[in-house]
Amino acid sequence: MYHRSTVSTFGLVAAISVASSLPAFAEGELNLYSSRHYDTDERLYSDFTDATGITINRIEGKADELITRMEAEGANSPADILLTVDTSRLERAKDAGVLQSIESNVLEERIPANLQDSDNQWFGFSQRARIIFYDKADVTDPPTDYVSLADPKYKGMVCHRSSSNVYSQTLLSAVIENHGEEAAKTWAQGVVDNFARAPQGGDTDQLRGLVSGECDISISNTYYFARAIRKDVEGVSAERDKIGWVFPAQDAEGAHMNLSGGGVAANAPNKENAIAFLEYLASDQAQQYFSAGNDEYPAVATVEKSASVKEMGEFTGDDIDLSAVAKNVATAQQIFNEVGWE
Ligand code: FE
Repeated sequence: MYHRSTVSTFGLVAAISVASSLPAFAEGELNLYSSRHYDTDERLYSDFTDATGITINRIEGKADELITRMEAEGANSPADILLTVDTSRLERAKDAGVLQSIESNVLEERIPANLQDSDNQWFGFSQRARIIFYDKADVTDPPTDYVSLADPKYKGMVCHRSSSNVYSQTLLSAVIENHGEEAAKTWAQGVVDNFARAPQGGDTDQLRGLVSGECDISISNTYYFARAIRKDVEGVSAERDKIGWVFPAQDAEGAHMNLSGGGVAANAPNKENAIAFLEYLASDQAQQYFSAGNDEYPAVATVEKSASVKEMGEFTGDDIDLSAVAKNVATAQQIFNEVGWE
């Protein structure tokens, strides 16, 4: 059997022009559509190829563009796997009909039930908690849960990114699931009233806002801070001692968790290879890369976490069914619009 030894990478634009030459079915190959944007994922792919001899042809793009592309390609799509972050997007892919249900005893046994789609169309492989960070000098009584972010005593102190971002949408979707739609709307209004500035930037920018003094309380996924522990992140690492953090709702539902995951494409020409790849992502080795390479929490709880992740500390995560949460996204967007969360 002939195998190419390198992992090939196509940008989205380039990939469109070469799509006709991309092998659909080809023994020993796998066509991966990915929106994960972490360079450390290279090791995931090269180790899979080393272990199985299966070459990965990678097409990278924004998640929604990849989903739209798979829809347009239809039955002729060369896509075998869609890999992305955030439950809402995985659910969007399922709704668009670009994924298929698969059977895998390995995935059933390794991946916790609450991190799997109810129809086995997608599986979560790593998690991140969306938690509260604060300026230790200015905040002596940080919020201990999400609900308290709306407390008027934090007026002018809270920073968060825009409502168009999936992390925002999934967080509010979880609040809806845990507390009901009315309470969620009141909460969102309260958070908007407490904003220190108009929503802007990414999660690292929320952490930078704490260092610069523009924000007193920020929300960010854990891996952005753990990354600033592991390596130098401009505007955060050098002054990270100023920043404290709280894993929210430890006496209630637990910290809001999001996941990174994927599924087998609806028309996967190399379906067996695709299932083998997902099973590899659930292996101890791949699970460790999610933690060591991108400071995430492995979906398989027995896998050792990296030093930077451990430094964040132990906590209880919300183990709510994420596929139920994702169904609230449209309602969440409506609430964001109503309360003026930009
Ligand atoms: Fe992110």
